[in-house]
Amino acid sequence: MSNKVILVVLDGLEYNTAAQCMGFLHALKEQGKATLYKLQCELPSMSRPLYETILTGTLPIQSGIVHNHVVRNSTQTSVFSLARENSLTTAAAAYHWFSELYNCAPYDAARDRYTEAPEQLIQYGCFYHQDHYPDSHLYLDAEWLRRKYDPDFLLVHPMNIDDAGHRAGFDSAHYRNTARHSDMSLSYHLPEWIAAGYQILITADHGMNSDKSHGGTLPEERDIPLFVIGERFSHQTDCSPAQTEICGVVCELLGIQNHAKPVANGLLCEGLSEQLSYKGAA
Ligand SMILES: [Zn+2]
Repeated sequence: MSNKVILVVLDGLEYNTAAQCMGFLHALKEQGKATLYKLQCELPSMSRPLYETILTGTLPIQSGIVHNHVVRNSTQTSVFSLARENSLTTAAAAYHWFSELYNCAPYDAARDRYTEAPEQLIQYGCFYHQDHYPDSHLYLDAEWLRRKYDPDFLLVHPMNIDDAGHRAGFDSAHYRNTARHSDMSLSYHLPEWIAAGYQILITADHGMNSDKSHGGTLPEERDIPLFVIGERFSHQTDCSPAQTEICGVVCELLGIQNHAKPVANGLLCEGLSEQLSYKGAA
C-alpha cells in the first residue's frame, strides 16, 4: 500500500456518459478493483469554481471563485498547500487555471507552462492553455512528471471531453467518443499506476448540457462520476460522497493530520487515520 495519490479530473464529464462510455474503467469495476459513485457537483457548475471546490473542499460561494474569470490565487488551504506544509511533493499536468489558483496569477505561458519550482504549492507542473490540447499528450505530461519527480500528490486534468461538449453538446457522438478516447488513454497508464500501489480518484468538475454549455442545475450538468481505485478505499457502495469531501479524502490518503476538511468517511477503510498514525509512530 502507498500513501501516494493520483487525482484525475476529467473536465466536463457527466455521469451517464461515464457510466456508458468508459469501458476500461468499468472492466476494473467488474474485477472489483474500482468502485463508481455518483456525485452532484456544487454550483455554479463551472470549471474554475469547481477546481477550487475539489482542491479545497469549499463551496464557490465560500471561496469567492464564483465564475471562470476570477483570476487570482486561492485564499483557502488546499491539497497543495497542506501537502507542502507536510513536506510532501506535489505535481500537476493541468489547465493553466490551476497554476493561477495555486501558483502564479495571471498565467504567463513562457514562464509557467513548464514549472520546476520547489518553493511553489504546485512544485512541478506541465500546464496548457488551449482546450483542444490533446488528452493523449496531457496523460504523457502527467506520466513524465510522475517518473521524473515521484510526487506524493499528482493532479491529472485533461480538457478534451469538455471541449467536445462545447462543440457538439452532451448528447452527441463527438462528446461520447471523446470520453471513450480518454478512457482508452487511461488504459495506457492506469495499470502501471495500480501496480505501483497508488490510491487513485477519477472524477469530473461538472457535466454538460444539450445547449453545449454548463453552469446550471440540470442533472446532466450536475451529476458526475467518482471512480476510486486502491486498497485504502472501502469500495462500499452504500455511501454518498460530496464533491466538497474529495479534498479531505485526499488529505487522509496522504496521511495529513489536522487538515480540518470534510471527509467522506464511507469511502475509506475504517481506521485509516489510526493505521497511518501507528505507521508514523513506528
Ligand atoms: Zn466547459
